[in-house]
Amino acid sequence: MPRDYYEVLNVPRDASLEEIKAAYRRLAREYHPDVRKDDPQAEERFKEINEAYQVLSDPQKRAEYDRLGRRGTPAPGPFDFRSPFEELFEAFFGGAAPRQERGPQRGADLRYDLEVTLEEAARGAERSVEVTRLETCPSCFGTGAERGGGLRECPSCAGSGQVRYSRRTAFGHFTQITTCPRCGGEGTILVNPCARCGGAGRVEAQRTVTVRVPPGAEDGTTLRVPEEGEAGVHGGPRGDLYVVLHLSRHPVFHRKGRDLYADLTVSMVQAALGDEVEVPTLDGPERVTLPAGVQPGEVLTLKGRGMPDLQGRRGDLHFRVRVEIPRQLTGEQRRLLLELARTMGLDVKPQRRKFSDRVKDLLS
Ligand SMILES: [Zn+2]
Ligand SMILES: [Zn+2]
Repeated sequence: MPRDYYEVLNVPRDASLEEIKAAYRRLAREYHPDVRKDDPQAEERFKEINEAYQVLSDPQKRAEYDRLGRRGTPAPGPFDFRSPFEELFEAFFGGAAPRQERGPQRGADLRYDLEVTLEEAARGAERSVEVTRLETCPSCFGTGAERGGGLRECPSCAGSGQVRYSRRTAFGHFTQITTCPRCGGEGTILVNPCARCGGAGRVEAQRTVTVRVPPGAEDGTTLRVPEEGEAGVHGGPRGDLYVVLHLSRHPVFHRKGRDLYADLTVSMVQAALGDEVEVPTLDGPERVTLPAGVQPGEVLTLKGRGMPDLQGRRGDLHFRVRVEIPRQLTGEQRRLLLELARTMGLDVKPQRRKFSDRVKDLLS
């Protein structure tokens, strides 16, 4: 049962924004997973604190939450350090977060190719995929600064982000203004770059993402998993993850749209007399009636037993009949067939199977 957001931050329901901020900073310092490395609950707790803060620090979301409770506030996206960036910075570095000269940038989208079986595509499935992606550095919250280090004004450009070169040439004074090479135009430099990310603000990490394959998925179906791409820069939003599905070949069924096709091999006796035979379906083996006198190549159809489409309509399952002729006959079977031929008025001249073909039979 999710807890009440006010309870999570331990503030009264009429707390001011300042009180909420202060409570958040205190709790963030206490429960940050990096601080509580040995506490497996810390990350969950920290996530809860972040979620509560994201709602209560936003006047509009807070009003909705007060009115409707959780029903009014859809759960925030997957856990990241993005939203409370400034407060986290204040909590750990003790000063205001730096101006982000380049502004927030959205993280890159990622693509993952996932092979699924026909059964998974038919019934739908939950699959876990391992993605390697850039995450906001948990040591510096994406600032690139070591704790207690922070940023200071770039001495090369005095915080302007631009430098001016003057040269005396034969034609007189020549002045050029360029982006400051030391701070890359940010106007600030790190006193101590973060040891974990080297100042980049993001680190590569392996994450497991759960992907829901919908029933009726097809080869090439692309699923968008929002906010599971790479982390943004400077507080920018995460990218998305695109999962492209590839259907693996099935040993029995061949798919054409919503319809499935398979071969059904029967003996010539079954074909002539008719029978009840067991056939494979996506829902398990099933008994069907083989009509007497069925011809090779004839198709038996099970209505509504094919693949579903994304709207849930199911196609049909078709069996193409193949009739197997016996390669070997005992003396009695041979006699019975000759008798049959006589009753059918057929004048047959029986042959022996060639020796080379009999060897092939044995080998196959
Ligand atoms: Zn500079
Ligand atoms: Zn870092």
